[in-house]
Amino acid sequence: MIALDIDNTLAATNPALWRMFPDADRTRCHGAPLPPSWFGTESGRRFLAELRPLRGARRAAWLLARRARLVYVTSRPPATVAETWAWLRRFRFPCGLLVFAGSSAAKARWATLLRIKLAIDDDPAAAAAYRAAGVRCLLPRWRYNADDPEAAAWPGLWRAIDFGAPASRHPL
Ligand SMILES: [Mg+2]
Repeated sequence: MIALDIDNTLAATNPALWRMFPDADRTRCHGAPLPPSWFGTESGRRFLAELRPLRGARRAAWLLARRARLVYVTSRPPATVAETWAWLRRFRFPCGLLVFAGSSAAKARWATLLRIKLAIDDDPAAAAAYRAAGVRCLLPRWRYNADDPEAAAWPGLWRAIDFGAPASRHPL
């Protein structure tokens, strides 16, 4: 099973935040001076609904879905559940579980619970938590994670995965 983060992994969240906050520090993972709870407000939910996917993300998700079951693991507030499902459907991402994990530590706990073998998440803190739980983590590359050896842009990211078995075997 593969864990896919949503914001800045599948969705171009930071570029949209940077349009709202042009002076925001682009070397930081959290792209704007907004509390996480803002995304659960009416304005925040509208903002999330209007995001665009990152180039190559949907194709990569489908290629990964041929090899393993997917679980979308996000740190969005649970109040965004309707917008998050609608967004995944609107942009035709593969079906999968959806887990709201409120922190990097919670993401790692879900990874253990669901026996996730591979995670893809842009947040260096989440990557560290996954790795501490024994889960390999790849990072869609941004300025704030570019020094990680497992960071790469889509579609190079899914190509970096050595499944080691034919697609029909579902090794993950
Ligand atoms: Mg993210």
